[in-house]
Amino acid sequence: MNPPYSGQLIIISGPSGVGKSSVVSELLSSCELPLELSVSATTREPRINEVDGVHYHFISLQEFFAKRQNEEFLECAEVFGIGHWYGTLEKPVRERLEKGRFVVLEIDVEGALMVLKRFPEATSIFIHPGDLVELEKRLRGRETEKEEQIQRRIAVAAKELEMAHHYQHIVRNEEIQATATKICGLLNQTGEEKICTTN
Ligand code: 5GP
Repeated sequence: MNPPYSGQLIIISGPSGVGKSSVVSELLSSCELPLELSVSATTREPRINEVDGVHYHFISLQEFFAKRQNEEFLECAEVFGIGHWYGTLEKPVRERLEKGRFVVLEIDVEGALMVLKRFPEATSIFIHPGDLVELEKRLRGRETEKEEQIQRRIAVAAKELEMAHHYQHIVRNEEIQATATKICGLLNQTGEEKICTTN
């Protein structure tokens, strides 16, 4: 049975390097809505400063596939086509929606489209970098990826930008705080009318 939920599901996507994580963390701290970030599972290695259970659940490929087999994911995807899997665990999302929370999924476009099929009422937001030159600058600036990974992320980003029209809202990120404020405003506008159901 697919119960109606009083909470809201919010999907936030955008290419790697666009500043998504910074925008999302600003949104969580500054927006007055009952927002909670869904912590994804991933098979990639943690970066310096990343904490297991906070930024991601870092798990092995074997564990990931066992969970997938068990249908524990609301969606999952091999994001950069280099053997690193990412997935949204379904149970904590549903539990939070039932409690009336606004659950934020920070996921890639492929995953977002899967979620939208099951939760058509979800609010979808695409954070846009403006152009690819700007994006490449930001990716290099953060110094967390090797050259090969940067090239891969830029190629994926180009494809993701073409998919932006699938989202209800496209927000250009020029300044983190302003972008977070804009998104909070969009969520406030839609918040009152929505009740999430699954199919
Ligand atoms: P990063 O490795 O830089 O943390 O994340 C890489 C990409 O994976 C980002 O675009 C992010 O949105 C996406 N991602 C993170 N978690 C998930 C998830 O659970 N599912 C999907 N489909 N993508 C995810």
